[in-house]
Amino acid sequence: MNMLLADPVLKHSRSQRKKISVVAPCHNEEESILEFIRRTVPVCTNLVDDDYELILVDDGSCDETWNIIAAETRNNDRIVGVKLLRNHGHQLAATAGLSASNGDRVLLIDADLQDPPELLPEMMRIMDQGADVVYGKRMARKGETYFKLVTADLFYRTLSFLSPTPVPKDTGDFRLMRRRVVKIFLNMPEQNRFIRGMVSWIGGKQTPLLYNRDARYGGETKYPLSKMIRFATDAITSFSTVPLRIATYLGCIFSIVAVLLLGYTVFSYFEGQTIAGWASLLTAISVFSAVQLIVLGIIGEYIGRITQQIKGRPLYIIDFVQKGELRIEADV
Ligand code: UDP
Ligand code: MG
Repeated sequence: MNMLLADPVLKHSRSQRKKISVVAPCHNEEESILEFIRRTVPVCTNLVDDDYELILVDDGSCDETWNIIAAETRNNDRIVGVKLLRNHGHQLAATAGLSASNGDRVLLIDADLQDPPELLPEMMRIMDQGADVVYGKRMARKGETYFKLVTADLFYRTLSFLSPTPVPKDTGDFRLMRRRVVKIFLNMPEQNRFIRGMVSWIGGKQTPLLYNRDARYGGETKYPLSKMIRFATDAITSFSTVPLRIATYLGCIFSIVAVLLLGYTVFSYFEGQTIAGWASLLTAISVFSAVQLIVLGIIGEYIGRITQQIKGRPLYIIDFVQKGELRIEADV
């Protein structure tokens, strides 16, 4: 598979499986990362003593995030820093972190403390009862704008209407997964990685855990409107081909309209009237060309993604992995 996984980099340290891996992608999180570590480490220690690892992926941050992570790896040998060569985006940074993990169970969590790490013991309990995946389902979302809530709601509605794979509403990527789920996920070679959808697609026993999503601990969201739109189109195009079918339906509807118009025009001609007016002509041309352009655009979205996929470039590039004083360069 054409992916630059982190495990070859960490091979020497993989002999011993940990009970829990916690994976957090971080992009410019200098304000939250220390507090995140401060809250997450005791949760893990209480659960499994030292048998955990905390993998912090620095996704091309341009602030102090990496320096803080590197310093923390020296303070605690359970902390592993994975430094990506540049910013690859949340979903790919999370994938890089998952590929670096080796725990029997892996918690994927944001580094901004919107998802409380204190929920891990409850997630572990649910998993003890047989779940393959325990995903956080948001009841309340503090500190989010009204706009974000409305657009997120619209996104989930559209997705559930279009996608044959049910993606649970009000969930993010905050989830505890068994190793086998992580393994299957890492073997899925798609470039557009909509993690929550891909994990839903895998199936098995997936159980929600209701929680209140907190406000960010510090800093700002890394998902401005433009990134949200990209994220949504990526999700829809990789989980549904219904938009292409809608294009066909639109074509059919407008063909019927065209035939009716033609019939009307011919009928009027034989009745001795010619239909006057450039306005109606212009309206018809505008409507039909607009529909054509939209349909072309939809097809283009899919073709663009096919092109991206067949290039088969690595999903992300790891600069190096830091464990304590040890800096393991990625073998590229
Ligand atoms: N993130 C990342 N790379 C990016 C953008 C975000 O690794 O390019 C991380 C970010 O540091 C955070 C998580 O992904 O830990 C979720 O991002 P954010 O909190 O900005 O998204 P929101 O919660 O606002 O949807
Ligand atoms: Mg956040």
